[in-house]
Amino acid sequence: MGIGDDIMWRGEAYKKFKETGKLQRPWNNKKNQYMNIETREVWKNVSWISRKGKPLDTLPNNKRRWYFKGTPYKPKIAPFTFKEKQIEFQKQIKFKDYIVINPYVKQGVFYPMKMWPYWIELINRLKDYNIVICAPQRPHVDGPTEQQILQANPNVQIVNTPNFLNCVIVISKAKLLITTEGANHHAAGNMQIPAIVIYGSHNSPLCTGYDSQVSITRTTECNTDGYGCHRNNKSKTQNSNPCITCIQAMSTITTQEVIEKVTEIINTNRTE
Ligand SMILES: [Zn+2]
Repeated sequence: MGIGDDIMWRGEAYKKFKETGKLQRPWNNKKNQYMNIETREVWKNVSWISRKGKPLDTLPNNKRRWYFKGTPYKPKIAPFTFKEKQIEFQKQIKFKDYIVINPYVKQGVFYPMKMWPYWIELINRLKDYNIVICAPQRPHVDGPTEQQILQANPNVQIVNTPNFLNCVIVISKAKLLITTEGANHHAAGNMQIPAIVIYGSHNSPLCTGYDSQVSITRTTECNTDGYGCHRNNKSKTQNSNPCITCIQAMSTITTQEVIEKVTEIINTNRTE
């Protein structure tokens, strides 16, 4: 279960709490056991999540995730509240107005189909904007090196974020987030921070998208209906083989296409 899944459960728990007035506790309905709230950063110190709460399934779709096999789903949103240490952390950002770019992707089961190859080119071409990058201090994350980023654009501020909530608070003050599908886009969606989400063909905004976001997708021979790749969602064994079509679909999304969306969003927000 990744951070994105944790955030989606958090949103469902918030909705249930609002409906029933009862605190919620994460229940793994496949293993028939409660999950440890303390091990998930986005569940800790959240007022509607408690060890004393009512069990709420973490695998509600036939013991799978909400969006499994292209099930249409709209993630629920829930507020983030920050502690003093996170508020302090955000103060190191030197820009007042900034865009957060997340060029990293977890080397999880869907790697590398969620990876976009042109981050360095984008960072280089967005020199008119203040860019902040939150570098996750976790193993098994792929993305450009600090040196590559600063060579492309020396004005970028890179902050090390060992803790995901540090990254969330940086996003909370941003004008825009640019990312692939994952924990960052879920965080922005929950806070209704505008985001450009580069989906390609593997995942779909019809399954994990938020209204506050602009999605860049591709329909392909493996994603004919727009609900995501049909090839790699069947089993763990198949997931170990990356879908070449999805990888190619990502490479057809150009830097120019992303920049046009950046301009649209920034200009729209300026005239409001
Ligand atoms: Zn595919």
